[in-house]
Amino acid sequence: MAIDYVDRRRMRLDVEFRFAASHRLPRYDGPCSQLHGHNYTFFVGIEGDVDPRSGMIADFGDIKRVVQDEVLVKTDHRHLNDVLENPTAEHIARWIWEALAGRLPGLAEVRLYEMPDSCVTYRGPGGR
Ligand SMILES: [Zn+2]
Repeated sequence: MAIDYVDRRRMRLDVEFRFAASHRLPRYDGPCSQLHGHNYTFFVGIEGDVDPRSGMIADFGDIKRVVQDEVLVKTDHRHLNDVLENPTAEHIARWIWEALAGRLPGLAEVRLYEMPDSCVTYRGPGGR
């Protein structure tokens, strides 16, 4: 599939991450108000110009280190209600964005899957 950027150097990369965590939704009238867990998957999307010398937008290894330090150590095998009062997929996606925004130049999107068929996408406070 062709990506028709006006500036042909501009591209996007995505890196996939996973974590397992428990949560309960205190404001939800249904089974999700009970303690349970998910195997979450999320994608971090970075957009930018391809550096003519390195040929890269960003270093995959740098992204993985930042996400490990800022997100995964606080979420993997943790209870998400210790991080967020109402840890819906929407709130978790925004929390991930806010944890990464100052550390990952070009951050364009966080897409969080709570289940393989259900995800939320956050593109930041100015996003579409
Ligand atoms: Zn849940």
